[in-house]
Amino acid sequence: PNEFLDDQKQYLQGFMSGAQFARAGRGLATFEQVLGLSKAATSTPTPKPDGTTGPEELHWNAQRRVIDEGKTLTPQEQAKRVRHPLDMWDDLARHAAESRFPRGDDVLAFKYHGLFYVSPAQNAYMCRLRLAGGFVDSHQFRGIARIADDWGGGYADATTRANLQIREIKAADGPKVVTALEDLGVVTRGSGADNIRNVTGSPTAGIDPSELIDTRPFCREMHHYILHNRWLYGLPRKFNIAFDGGGAVSALEDTNDIGFTAVRVGEGQAAPAGVYFRLMLGGISGHRDFALDEGVLLTPDQCIPVAAAILRVFIEHGDRTDRKKARLKYLLDRWGHEKFVETVETLLPSRLTRFPLEQCQPRPAVDKHGHIGVHAQKQPGRFYVGVVLTVGRMTTDQMRGLAAIADRYGSGTIRLTVWQNLLISDVAEADLPAVRSAIEDLGLGWKAGPVRGGLIACTGNAGCRFAASDTKSHALAIADHLDPRITMNQPVNIHLTGCPNSCAQHYIGDIGLLGAGVEVGDDVVEGYHVFLGGGYGDERGVGREVLRSVPATDVPMVVERLLQTYQERRSSPD
Ligand code: SF4
Repeated sequence: PNEFLDDQKQYLQGFMSGAQFARAGRGLATFEQVLGLSKAATSTPTPKPDGTTGPEELHWNAQRRVIDEGKTLTPQEQAKRVRHPLDMWDDLARHAAESRFPRGDDVLAFKYHGLFYVSPAQNAYMCRLRLAGGFVDSHQFRGIARIADDWGGGYADATTRANLQIREIKAADGPKVVTALEDLGVVTRGSGADNIRNVTGSPTAGIDPSELIDTRPFCREMHHYILHNRWLYGLPRKFNIAFDGGGAVSALEDTNDIGFTAVRVGEGQAAPAGVYFRLMLGGISGHRDFALDEGVLLTPDQCIPVAAAILRVFIEHGDRTDRKKARLKYLLDRWGHEKFVETVETLLPSRLTRFPLEQCQPRPAVDKHGHIGVHAQKQPGRFYVGVVLTVGRMTTDQMRGLAAIADRYGSGTIRLTVWQNLLISDVAEADLPAVRSAIEDLGLGWKAGPVRGGLIACTGNAGCRFAASDTKSHALAIADHLDPRITMNQPVNIHLTGCPNSCAQHYIGDIGLLGAGVEVGDDVVEGYHVFLGGGYGDERGVGREVLRSVPATDVPMVVERLLQTYQERRSSPD
């Protein structure tokens, strides 16, 4: 019917979203017919010459199973089925040529290329990078600053996945940013949407006196494995992977879908003595769940193949009918962890080694604010300096200045952390005064009070359409209010997140703040629900909501009172 063809035209031209299209009752079968595809053509993947189907068809077959079971794919899955989002470069270039931002399902598809159209917060793209383990060379850092000057807003944001984002990119400049980054050796592929996000690791890898293993090779190998396997771009939903090497700065691996945690097994145990990784699965702090230890001990060389097998099972069996239930956690809930691990093992050459966590040695202690300030490295006479970027934002002048410090006094390496800041490593002791004053000259800090050093804020409503509050500016207001008023002898982590997606992981903060509209008289103002008592690692816990609907203007005072009360009433002063 004409009505259908009109809708379909609107949909294809981007004036109707997949959700609207689905609501209009346009099922996939009809859609396929209109596209001129026979049922047979869409129900059987192209066989390989040897008659088998390749891993790139995994997600396609998983979608087919949902349809064959009489269930409805989410609109996003339907859109991904019609065309693989990685095959949209021509579209992206056409949008740029016409100075047009994407509409409808193209918004999701463009994120596969690292470009996020963030309307209505900004009528602009945000570009998210991929930096394996958060490591970036000074020349790349300088290049990213130049790109942010040429086509962005003249600044970059450090994220909670040890990554960088460039904002305020015009429609015409999206592909220029992506290709200029690629010229620098920095990729954006799969940094958003239903993909494996930036692989994180210990930011002090290779320099930490207490680490059990250097996680850099694992982050790098996982990063390249993802980039070079197209079948990994068929996930039902986003996916996070982290490697923790046991050093002083935590990688927060227990908040990831897969967390690899280094452990040491001593002499006299059932497994040979040495360093291994524990396998943890199903972390998703926004849904109040940490990753669970699977009772499995991995040799380091098993990590990447095991991750690949886990991803394959997730692609084949993850939920594609409900976005809210599509993360790995929900498959684990549905199947149980035991069945999941056994299914993963069918894809591996042998069964995984079961080994109780209690028989591993305890993890070396975490230094809660070890990402800030000057710390000795394991290399004699060398130090790393944790630079404070309150809530993660740097101007491009500051970025060039940091790159110059890393070149002149360090080894030219910049290490981003999941705490929205960065480290400059390999500084000689004699150069520390010069480094400290050079950082201060940039208007940045190398030491922070107990609050500012652990202050994390997501993008907020200045750049994200989901946000109920301006998290970054409110975080700064909290720090400015507390710095002269609160003296504490222990670090505190305060996490501000603008919506339940919880990019800043409010549930694991000592104090967590979740953005909310707050009714004040006839008005609705920006504000927060307040959570207390979250933690990670050995202090793992999900924060409990203690206050609702606090106007943002009152939050600094409320946080001050909470910290004062804590200091007065805690059972131990240390
Ligand atoms: Fe946006 Fe919500 Fe993530 Fe904040 S937590 S950046 S508001 S999606």
